[in-house]
Amino acid sequence: MAKRIIVKVPDPILYKRCREVDVFDARLHSLLDDMKDTVKAANGAGLAAPQVAVLKRVCVVDTEDGYFELINPVLKSQSGEQTGAEGCLSVPKKYGTVTRPMKVTVLAQDRNGDMKKYKVHGFTARAFMHEMDHLDGIVYTSKATDITDGE
Ligand SMILES: [Zn+2]
Repeated sequence: MAKRIIVKVPDPILYKRCREVDVFDARLHSLLDDMKDTVKAANGAGLAAPQVAVLKRVCVVDTEDGYFELINPVLKSQSGEQTGAEGCLSVPKKYGTVTRPMKVTVLAQDRNGDMKKYKVHGFTARAFMHEMDHLDGIVYTSKATDITDGE
């Protein structure tokens, strides 16, 4: 396991659509292990593969609700709304106000290719949606109603 370098805006890799994962091998596992090291070291709430320069539909979320590895995630349903502050490890020292669903149901494969269903709400739902947007080349700043400088 190793920390990887986090790609920052405006690197064009952050605006590309990622490819589906169809091979669940040791290479994928080492990517996931490295992403865990990287997000923990950066004290982030999540990290998507394009942020470490890998254009695959892989992301991780790390919140008080747990640590999640999402491969080929798909949003199945959503309800409610929340508006709040959001940041991104690829957009250092900035925060923005983004409206997201309050609750989401997401289907995703795990590192072995098994399909899982996740029902999450609140901040974890926000983190899921933020990371899944990265897989479609969407950085939250394009959805934020305002951007402010922060720590
Ligand atoms: Zn981000």
